[in-house]
Amino acid sequence: MFSALLLSWYDAHKRALPFRGTKDPYRIWVSEIMLQQTRTETVAGYYSRFLDRFPDVFALADAPEEDVLKCWEGLGYYSRARNLHKAAKAVTEQYGGKFPADLEKLRALPGVGNYTAAAVASIAFDLPAPAMDGNLTRVLSRFHGIRQDVDIPAVKRRLADLGREDMPDTRCGDFNQALMDLGATVCTPGTPDCEVCPLRPLCNAYHEGDAETLPIKAAAKPPKEIQMAVALITCQGRIWMNQRKETLLKNLWVYHLTENDENRQDMEKAIKALGIRASYTSGLGSARHIFTHRVWNMTLYHYEAASAECREGRFVTLNEMNALPIPTAMKAAKEQAAKLLMPTDAKEGENKA
Ligand code: SF4
Repeated sequence: MFSALLLSWYDAHKRALPFRGTKDPYRIWVSEIMLQQTRTETVAGYYSRFLDRFPDVFALADAPEEDVLKCWEGLGYYSRARNLHKAAKAVTEQYGGKFPADLEKLRALPGVGNYTAAAVASIAFDLPAPAMDGNLTRVLSRFHGIRQDVDIPAVKRRLADLGREDMPDTRCGDFNQALMDLGATVCTPGTPDCEVCPLRPLCNAYHEGDAETLPIKAAAKPPKEIQMAVALITCQGRIWMNQRKETLLKNLWVYHLTENDENRQDMEKAIKALGIRASYTSGLGSARHIFTHRVWNMTLYHYEAASAECREGRFVTLNEMNALPIPTAMKAAKEQAAKLLMPTDAKEGENKA
């Protein structure tokens, strides 16, 4: 009954999304990885561009990692791109380029968790696996009246079991996508639109009148605020950049970053340790970037180096900088860097305009 009501609603109301209507596991997988932490509207443009550049799993596996990161630039959460690349290599090496029609084997691929494995298995191969994302968790907890913290592992398992029990024998992928659409458009966070919901006759939370309070979640910890100093070190039309080694933003190109910097001394010592002789020129304002668990409060500085000598990183031109994969966290710094590197006559033209 649940699935019949849901699927007939889906047939009439499904969202027209660019990554829908395919059974190709490669395309489904790419879209699901992109959708993990990014809004549907944002993914649409990236998805087409990514597939133009990497039309199949072989093209992705063969590409240098830097190309994959560049194509991902702006989407954030770059570990997704690195894992996508690793998983493409695994699919070509272990399975000859054919995605396995097996939930456990899909889950064993880098970056593929329960949700993504279930989405690919159900949509591409019609396997009965509920893709438990925020939408499914919300709809199922309201429908079945689950009034416990949905982040508790036992409660998560119970919801996934309920999703599996509700799933029809065929159209498993449509079932998951129907729940995603219902969660995104009708059974929304906050106040759901129960009056137009196909599940209303059987919905526990609707009848109990507490849908707005579900799902129950323990309050999330606020992200940690971190003070950062960003030094833009220029030298004769070039700027110093380095590839991050830290897990956060790994392998992306950034300017000189010093964490927990309250004054300029620590940063200047760190610049010197790189073999760069540079003098302070001016402050360039501040910027803020919010990650999932931390916030970078950045103060931007400009330094001019006496020569382009350095033990790590390299000095790049404006064109070279624009070709590198640079994280969105560096957006304000990149804009300032572009102004610093712009030829003087172009700057004058910009000022007049
Ligand atoms: S009736 Fe309301 S609470 Fe229940 S599933 Fe539909 S929209 Fe959600």
